[in-house]
Amino acid sequence: MPERDVFYSGMRKLEKWFKKTLDDDQMEMWLDKVRNIPTEPFNKIIDELIDQGRPNSFLPTPEDMRKKWFNWLAINPERVHKAKEFCPECDSTGALEYWLWKTGSIYGYHCGCAKCENWRNVFPTQGKNIPKLMTRQEIIAIGGSLDDPDRQPRESRRVVNSVEEAVDIAVNDIPF
Ligand SMILES: [Zn+2]
Repeated sequence: MPERDVFYSGMRKLEKWFKKTLDDDQMEMWLDKVRNIPTEPFNKIIDELIDQGRPNSFLPTPEDMRKKWFNWLAINPERVHKAKEFCPECDSTGALEYWLWKTGSIYGYHCGCAKCENWRNVFPTQGKNIPKLMTRQEIIAIGGSLDDPDRQPRESRRVVNSVEEAVDIAVNDIPF
C-alpha cells in the first residue's frame, strides 16, 4: 500500500496536471482500489501517467494505475519479495491477463489466479475490490483469449538485459 501521504501527494500531482479535483470520498475510493501498490512503484506510476497524459485531458483511472502496476510486476518480478508459491497456471504472478471482445472492440483485463494464493500479493484482499479468481480454462470458457491480440507474446517483454532497457520498456510499453 502506498503510504497515505505518498498517495495523497501523488494524487495532487495528477489533479494539477489534468486540472481535475477529487473530493475526499473519491480519494478514499481510489485508495481502496490501488492499496496493493507499494510506495516506490506508486511514485513511478504517477510519473508515467503524467509523462503520457496531456495537460487538462481526462484524468487517468484507477484501472490505468493497476495496468501499470501489473506491467511493473512483469518487468520487476524479483522486486516482489513476499513469499510466493510456485504456480505454473499464472507463472507465479498471482494474476492472469486476458482479452474479451465486446461490441466490436477488444478489452484487456486482469483477474486473480484461482489455483494459488499469490493473487493476495497483487490485488486488494478486502473490500469491494477483491478480484475475480479464475483459471485459464475458465477464461477460455467465458470466451476470453489468453493471447494479446495485437502484441508480441508476453514472454518477449520479459527478456530484459539491463536496467536501462527495463526503464525503456516501462516508459514505452504502454499496456493496452
Ligand atoms: Zn497461480
